[in-house]
Amino acid sequence: MPTRLVLVEDNLKLAESIAEGLREDGYLTDQLSTAAAAIERGLRRDFDLMILDLGLPDRDGLEVLAELRAARVHVPILVLTARDAVEARVEALDKGADDYLVKPFAFAELVARIGALVRRAGGPRWAPADDAPIVMGDDLVVSSGLKHATLSPREFALLGCLLRRRGEVVSRSEILREAFGYDFDPGTNVIDVHLTHLRKKLGGFPLVIETVRGIGIRLSLETPPKS
Ligand code: CA
Repeated sequence: MPTRLVLVEDNLKLAESIAEGLREDGYLTDQLSTAAAAIERGLRRDFDLMILDLGLPDRDGLEVLAELRAARVHVPILVLTARDAVEARVEALDKGADDYLVKPFAFAELVARIGALVRRAGGPRWAPADDAPIVMGDDLVVSSGLKHATLSPREFALLGCLLRRRGEVVSRSEILREAFGYDFDPGTNVIDVHLTHLRKKLGGFPLVIETVRGIGIRLSLETPPKS
């Protein structure tokens, strides 16, 4: 089955050139130009990935993100933004974007990111071993005892990758490949942004995620106190 993309971009000239390139690369690409149309289409869940411009005429793209994630639409969303500030990127990831590109970007990079996200979404879900006191359930919910947290698809993939190799230091390039589907370094702090969110959401869970400088990331499980 060909991959179906939804491109939400109100700059019609830009949208047309992106869509044309994507079609040449074999992607079915539907074009939309408003936040309202993006939400309506998103709720139908009949596509593989959304490319979402944040500067839309009717509402901010961040609101589209927030609404779709609140409605449990977990399809990968790649944000296009002209906002280069770190806070803007963090906010997009925080609202559930899987990745972002700052305009202007090279078309080849867009294609690489799309490929990575699509591979990741279709890839195996990392299941931790049975003895781990943490359960990664369907619908991106992680549980430990009575504690539950709902993660973004990227956070879920990142946790799965670290949990599967718990106790080991996993290098950043391995994480990028296994959890993000990148076989290249996107040259951003994308791992750290997701780690920050993960640590916050998993506060109180019996695990510690450490950054080992210059080497990678290590997740350790805490032994429950003996009663
Ligand atoms: Ca725009």
